[in-house]
Amino acid sequence: MMPLYRMNSLASLIMELRILFGRVRLTKLEIQILEQQFPYYARLSEKHKKEFREKLAVILTTKSFIGRGGLRIVSPEMKILIGATMVMVTFGWKDLRLPHFSKILIYPDTYYSTISRQYHRGEVNPRYGIIVMSWNCFLNGMENQKDGVNLGIHEVAHALKLENQIYYNDECEFFNPEVYRSFQVLASEEIQKIKAGDQTVFRSNGGIDHDEFFAVGLETFFEKPHEFFEYNPELYGTLVRLMRQDPRVWIGTRS
Ligand SMILES: [Zn+2]
Repeated sequence: MMPLYRMNSLASLIMELRILFGRVRLTKLEIQILEQQFPYYARLSEKHKKEFREKLAVILTTKSFIGRGGLRIVSPEMKILIGATMVMVTFGWKDLRLPHFSKILIYPDTYYSTISRQYHRGEVNPRYGIIVMSWNCFLNGMENQKDGVNLGIHEVAHALKLENQIYYNDECEFFNPEVYRSFQVLASEEIQKIKAGDQTVFRSNGGIDHDEFFAVGLETFFEKPHEFFEYNPELYGTLVRLMRQDPRVWIGTRS
């Protein structure tokens, strides 16, 4: 058997070739879905829109979207909106595409896990390189863009944080280590506040641990950037540096 690192480099070479020569092209309908249903994209300049579409094409080329739990057909809307969420969260980096997470499993609604014996809305499984989402919960998160609850952002944030510390592929340690350390110090303070029952800008799940705080923090960052900034400018500023983008630029008005 080929050693693991060589298999990985072969697999990543094949993927690179596919990106170069066999890249998915977005159809008119798919671009229309972006324009009409993904406000982050709709607000971008023409130059950034083009960049966004190119990143999305790479995501669609390199990930498999698989229906589960009775979901027979993965629609263009599902691929585009979930893919666009990945592009949005990673838009600060030119080439980031979370290669470890090559499969996106989509359930029609919440699904029962025989391992945890609970119903789930979504999860990220680094062992199998999968991101799982309930389509219904994903859409609920998209419906209200200003409430700081967004399943898609939440799960992609988990994948991003894990990818940063997965060392076998070329994508790791893309977080600036110094900025990341400052973020964790400030995050600890917020986690304590949430645990103490204080009123914060974050929803209470953020108080569970650092992984959950990062995911909930990014939901707040993208959906309530102005409130987040007013609440804790230092933490917000640290996230801007960590994520290399400032959602307040895209969301200009407070209404
Ligand atoms: Zn979570």
